[in-house]
Amino acid sequence: MNEIRGFVGKEGRPKNVGIYVHVPFCLSKCHYCDFCSVTGADGSKKDAYVSRICDEVREFADRIKQTGELPQADTVYFGGGTPTLMSAEQFARILEAVELNFGISQSAEITAECNPRSADLKSLSRLRKTGVNRLSIGMQSIHTRELKALGRIHGFHDFKVTVCEARDAGFDNISADLMYGIPHQTRESFCESVETLASLAPEHISSYCLTVEEGTNFHRRRDSLDLPDEDTVGDMYDDMCEILTKYGYHKYEISNFSKEGKESRHNLKYWTGENYLGFGSAAHSYFDGVRFAHSRDIDAYIEGKGTIIDVEPIDKREAMNEYVMLGMRLSQGIDVSSFKERFGEELLEAFGKIRQYSPEFVEISDQKCRFTEKGTFVSNSVLSDVLDFGE
Ligand code: SF4
Repeated sequence: MNEIRGFVGKEGRPKNVGIYVHVPFCLSKCHYCDFCSVTGADGSKKDAYVSRICDEVREFADRIKQTGELPQADTVYFGGGTPTLMSAEQFARILEAVELNFGISQSAEITAECNPRSADLKSLSRLRKTGVNRLSIGMQSIHTRELKALGRIHGFHDFKVTVCEARDAGFDNISADLMYGIPHQTRESFCESVETLASLAPEHISSYCLTVEEGTNFHRRRDSLDLPDEDTVGDMYDDMCEILTKYGYHKYEISNFSKEGKESRHNLKYWTGENYLGFGSAAHSYFDGVRFAHSRDIDAYIEGKGTIIDVEPIDKREAMNEYVMLGMRLSQGIDVSSFKERFGEELLEAFGKIRQYSPEFVEISDQKCRFTEKGTFVSNSVLSDVLDFGE
């Protein structure tokens, strides 16, 4: 990262950075999962992995320091895998390494993903004491048949228990994951999942539409999966938006809903082109205009052997494309003056084609450019017309 630089924008290196830590351990492998995760890792493997992350945090900080001011972490996100399969001590070691080498701001958002049955009141209380202040829990569905079809090992009861125990442990910022387009799901069964989840009042809800990825159990059985059709999946999305609005959630990103002020600050960094550094196998980074990734090989990562792959400096045009593509996913759209500040160009001059679209689909003012509710449904085709990837 010290040798190669991409487009960094007129403001230069931002003072803050998001830190992502990938924890690739799971209790069992879900049928749809193509994330980097393994089952059966023992305590010593986890310890070795944590040690390597701590070393890498120090190494990255040392290299970044050589090229300018070291940013402070204002978000930390433990994703996986199932991070709550690490002990509180292991979380604490990583957070200590981040604090020592980058510093963590007082008001930082520190999230850990958690699966039901991977944590209890005792472990969640310990986790809360390490400074983790936000929990993201994988519910997916309330229906046993759907959860079983996904290969999830928890039931809805386990999810409810985890939410209660997280509240008792002091977590006042909880997110839950919800899936649609999954085997055996109907519009009605999905609406029940959405209503039931909303009534439990997590501060944030992330929705995911199932995609059948190569290399997964689902992909091998793709012809025999009982999946809802495309129209039904579209209706499910509409139903979800309607139900969650009724329960006081606002859709701030195409697939993410939150109570006021509880948007995911870490994920907002991805959608607004901020810097983030990823540690651990398969973790991705975007820093000083360079995108880079770690390989998925967990053992090679532990041994510290050449694990950074795909180093890709992003030039200005590419950075502008990505900024628009990701920013238009947000309900608030793109802030026109922030675009000018960062790229030194007018948004509507750089992407003039967007003016051709009716205000029914795209709302353009001096301050903002965003999709209307109706425009969200055609957003992919509008963006592929407006953006010039591949030129
Ligand atoms: S719990 Fe998450 S990361 Fe682990 S196997 Fe299931 S989907 Fe994949």
